[in-house]
Amino acid sequence: MPGAPGPLEDGREMAAPLLVGADGRRSGTAARAGIKRRVTDYGQTALVCAIGHEKPHQGCAYQIFLPPGPLAILPLTGNRSSIVWSETTEQAAAIQALDDEAYLEVLRPRFGDFLGEIHIAGARYTYPLNMTLAESFTAERLALAGDAARGVHPIAGQGLNAGLRDVAALAEVLVEAARRGEDLGWPLVLDRYAQWRRFDSATLALATDGFNRLFSNDNPLLRLGRDIGLGLANALPGLRRGFMREAAGMTGDVPRLLQGRPL
Ligand SMILES: Cc1cc2nc3c(=O)[nH]c(=O)nc-3n(C[C@H](O)[C@H](O)[C@H](O)COP(=O)(O)OP(=O)(O)OC[C@H]3O[C@@H](n4cnc5c(N)ncnc54)[C@H](O)[C@@H]3O)c2cc1C
Repeated sequence: MPGAPGPLEDGREMAAPLLVGADGRRSGTAARAGIKRRVTDYGQTALVCAIGHEKPHQGCAYQIFLPPGPLAILPLTGNRSSIVWSETTEQAAAIQALDDEAYLEVLRPRFGDFLGEIHIAGARYTYPLNMTLAESFTAERLALAGDAARGVHPIAGQGLNAGLRDVAALAEVLVEAARRGEDLGWPLVLDRYAQWRRFDSATLALATDGFNRLFSNDNPLLRLGRDIGLGLANALPGLRRGFMREAAGMTGDVPRLLQGRPL
């Protein structure tokens, strides 16, 4: 790959027609290939940990919208849920520095009591939140996939879905190219992948960015607008089903693997 010649640490050298960079939002593979990224820092940090609770979650996920950012409560096995709790970066650092009991005291009024008494059920982590979009999804004999291509705000829970779509689309493009006898690292083959995924990724980045700005906000006019929007989505089953299909990644040009069809 350009900019990263040389053997592996153990001295071996490897060659392939194509390298896939799936090394996350700070992709060293993309950087070494000279691909620049557009990064928007949200000034928010997610506090993440497993929470044990008295009552069963019935398999439901919840998202509570608070002015500094959303609090997502995602079901795990048993009476446990994972929280993704967004706060301003300064506030998150202060909360993370607290001991478990003090942490829970800050969390309880936000979490509410619908799952009964809560306790910490695992290690506590923090993740700075930003949006990062690679300016190109491909370079010479290189394709980026997953967060290496685009990393979005977790507000809509779409990051992993987008990465799975990348992998399924790339597999489809490569299998078709192999059937035609094309070189898998040929620029025209890689262009097919980039064209397929680029628009979807830019739309997702814009949508999650917009959602975050709309919901992590206490402006009364914006609050009224989003309450009307959520009320409409709730009242109109067709609209709600549309959102669910969109969230499940089942709209647009869905790769065959994600439709459960063979390549
Ligand atoms: C707080 C938070 C909550 C989230 N919640 C959701 C959610 O509810 N739903 C959802 O769909 N998505 C969610 N996401 C996004 C989701 O986690 C990511 O989109 C997904 O993990 C991206 O997968 P990836 O494999 O592309 O990158 P990563 O998960 O970042 O994996 C990249 C891997 O590459 C490895 N790596 C890097 N460099 C090298 C190297 N030089 N050599 C070897 N290995 C290397 C890393 O160690 C890592 O294991 C959330 C993200 C955050 C931060």
